[in-house]
Amino acid sequence: MRHVMSKEIEVLTSIESLGDERRLTYYKVGTKVLKTMTDELVGMGFEWFLPIMLSRTTDPLWPDPGASIEKRIEVEIYGEKVKTMQSMIVHKRVLVSLGPPKFFIISPNIRIEKKERGATGRHLYEFTQLEVEMAYAKMQDVFRVYERIMTEAIKRVKADMGEDLKKLGRDLKGFSPPFRVLSRRELERKYGQSWDTALPKDITEPVWVTDIPREFYDYEDLKTGEWRNFDLFLPEGYGEVISGAEREYEYEKMIAKIERDGLRQDDFRTLLEIAKKGKLKPSSGAGLGIERFIAYIVGAKHVGEVQPFPRIPGIVSQM
Ligand code: AMP
Ligand code: MG
Repeated sequence: MRHVMSKEIEVLTSIESLGDERRLTYYKVGTKVLKTMTDELVGMGFEWFLPIMLSRTTDPLWPDPGASIEKRIEVEIYGEKVKTMQSMIVHKRVLVSLGPPKFFIISPNIRIEKKERGATGRHLYEFTQLEVEMAYAKMQDVFRVYERIMTEAIKRVKADMGEDLKKLGRDLKGFSPPFRVLSRRELERKYGQSWDTALPKDITEPVWVTDIPREFYDYEDLKTGEWRNFDLFLPEGYGEVISGAEREYEYEKMIAKIERDGLRQDDFRTLLEIAKKGKLKPSSGAGLGIERFIAYIVGAKHVGEVQPFPRIPGIVSQM
C-alpha cells in the first residue's frame, strides 16, 4: 500500500514493501549505525540498560512548544493505572542518582502524535530513543558524547557501505565535530518564531541550539531566565534529532515548576521524594531519535520508511 503524505512524500506501508530493495538497505545501514553507537558508548564506560514500557510515571511532554500529543495512553494492570512510556526521563533521573553514574538505554516511546504530523516526514507514533544520562555532567559533556557516536557511525557507514549508499543515491557527508552552538534567542531574531523549520534548511553541518523553554526537569536559571538545555539540528531539512539538558535537582524548585506547569506532583512522587532527601544528583543527558538519525543517513523522505512496520501518525496498519 502506498500512502501519499504530502506533495513530496509517499510511504509504502504494505507487508510486501517490507522486502523492498531500498528498505533492505535501510535496515542494513541501521544495523551498522546501532552497532557503532552502542560499541562506542560501551567503550566509553557507559552501562547499558534495557527499557521499561509501563509505569505510573512518564515524561509529561508538557509544556513543550514542539509537542502535539493527541492522546495519552493509560491502562489498568493489577487494579492500578499505568501509562505507556513517552520517554524514560523520570526513570533516568532516579537511576543516575541511585545507580551507576553514566548509562544508556535504547528506549521505545509511544506518542500518539496528531494525524497532521504524518505529513511532516519526521513524526511517528512509536519510535525509539538512544537515551544517555551522566551524573554531574554539563551540557558540553553530552555534546561531546553524541558528536562522537554520530560522527563514528557516519564514518563507518561511509567506509564499509559505500556501495549501498551509492545504490541509494545518497551523497553522505562526514561530520566534523565539535558542532556549532547557537542560542534559540539569536535564531528567533534571525528567522522568527519558526526558526526550527528554517534553520535545518540553512545549514550544512549539524548545529546545537540551546536555551529552549520546556518541561520542568530541564535546568532553568531563574535569575537570567536561561534554560540549560539543547536540541541538535541536522542539515538538509532533516531538523531536530536530539533533545537534552542539564537537569533540575532541587526539590523546592521542581515543586514550584510543576505547579507553574499545571502538572500533578503525585505523578512524579518517587522523583520528588528522592529530591526531598537531597539524593537527586545533578546530571545531564539527552535522547537521540534513532529512526530520524537513520533516515538522515540513508536519505529517506519519511522516517517511517526505516521501520519495517511504519508507525505513521494517522495510519493504523494491520500489523
Ligand atoms: P524529545 O525529548 O521529545 O525531543 O524526543 C527526543 C528525540 O526523539 C527527538 O529529538 C527526536 O529525534 C525523537 N522524536 C521525538 N518525537 C518523535 C516522533 N513523534 N517521531 C519520531 N521521532 C521522534
Ligand atoms: Mg525535542
